[in-house]
Amino acid sequence: MKIAVIGTGYVGLVTGTCFAETGNKVVCVDNDQAKVDKLSAGQITIYEPGLEKLFLRNIKEERLRFTTDLVSVVDEVEIIFLALPTPPGADGAADLKYVLGVAEDLGKLLNSYKVIVNKSTVPVGTADKVRATIAKNYQGEFDVVSNPEFLREGVAVDDFMKPDRVVIGTNSERARKLMSELYAPFVRQGNPVLFMDERSSELTKYAANSFLAMKISFMNEIAQLCERMGADVDMVRRGIGSDERIGKRFLFSGIGYGGSCFPKDVQALIKSADAVDYDFAILKAVEQVNAKQKVHLVQKIKEHYQGNLKGKRFALWGLAFKPNTDDIREAPALAIIDALLKEGATVCAYDPEAMANVKNLLGDSIDYATSQYSALEGADALLIATEWSEFRTPDFERMATLLPSKLIFDGRNLFEVAKMNQLGYQYISVGRPTELT
Ligand code: NAD
Repeated sequence: MKIAVIGTGYVGLVTGTCFAETGNKVVCVDNDQAKVDKLSAGQITIYEPGLEKLFLRNIKEERLRFTTDLVSVVDEVEIIFLALPTPPGADGAADLKYVLGVAEDLGKLLNSYKVIVNKSTVPVGTADKVRATIAKNYQGEFDVVSNPEFLREGVAVDDFMKPDRVVIGTNSERARKLMSELYAPFVRQGNPVLFMDERSSELTKYAANSFLAMKISFMNEIAQLCERMGADVDMVRRGIGSDERIGKRFLFSGIGYGGSCFPKDVQALIKSADAVDYDFAILKAVEQVNAKQKVHLVQKIKEHYQGNLKGKRFALWGLAFKPNTDDIREAPALAIIDALLKEGATVCAYDPEAMANVKNLLGDSIDYATSQYSALEGADALLIATEWSEFRTPDFERMATLLPSKLIFDGRNLFEVAKMNQLGYQYISVGRPTELT
């Protein structure tokens, strides 16, 4: 099939590359000229494990190309995916200006039947809006389909190639056939392609992300109780996770959720509920708990130093909002840096992939280390904000020579408290005792 993907960011680039990998001819469109130039020159623009190999292979096989020119693309494709940003507007509701802007352009460019597939995360009713926007300028046949994306950054290629499920919202038999054919290679192991109406499909994505965010906030509240009651959140997590109705995954407490999706999607669903006069009380609490949790580690640091962080220097391991990505959107590490700088402290950070993005954002307001160990030089304490696997089993002896205070504030609970006690570290984590008695 011939496919266009409009918007070549984290979702668009993975989508385009994976569709090319299954034999389709894909053209990715983006209005960022510098990005398109880089991609066209065979330079990948995001860090995503496994993506570069597929990206290069499909460019070489001439199944994948990049352009800024939407006009030249529309006539030659059958299916047009929208993988455009849907950031929060001033009131927190999803801003549809990118999606509807492109829909407007498409209305002026369509000449024959196409399927327009919305992969962006959009509020219920957006398919109708896209349809109406196109129909202002184009009276021919076309279908608009909702096909929310569930990939996780860090494992996006695997998620896309072997999705737990594919959700497709459409009432059109013609679009359904095309979409079934397109996705068939991705669900050969029998994972379901769930066809449904557009509205249910649009809501499914928000419901999924909000539910996951709720799990995190719930565990963070349990962690708060653990700290006050002398319990250990790791034990509680294991205790509840072995109940199949609860499940083991996504029960880790820490420094709150971040990233480009959970914060904005939780907010957008609250706003969508408000718009139909429904007070989504649980979700409002999820958001409040997360805001508190993001600064929880800083509070612990302040407590430790009796409120005075002036002149203190902190090594910070981890900047990305989660491991295996370079994405720093809404990363808890950024909230921590901001709070520490405001208190008059300095920060020396290390992240395996996200340093360039943070440098672009924060410039020289913090220092950047070339390794996790050099970050420790001259630091008063180590803070851990992202659970990269290389942080999990560090050389503690080497660390002790570089960090004589042997003081660690761990927002991701990477180490066993007992082991850290044994090694003589002062180890402050989330929802767990500092010292085992
Ligand atoms: P992104 O910001 O990484 O990418 C969006 C791209 O669209 C950018 O490259 C931008 O230059 C381009 N763009 C903007 N306006 C354009 C236009 N008029 N024409 C062409 N290109 C244009 O965003 P993302 O993370 O890929 O997210 C895209 C959508 O997918 C969002 O709705 C998001 O909620 C959803 N989503 C994201 C993830 C994720 O993990 N990132 C997962 C599932 C769903």
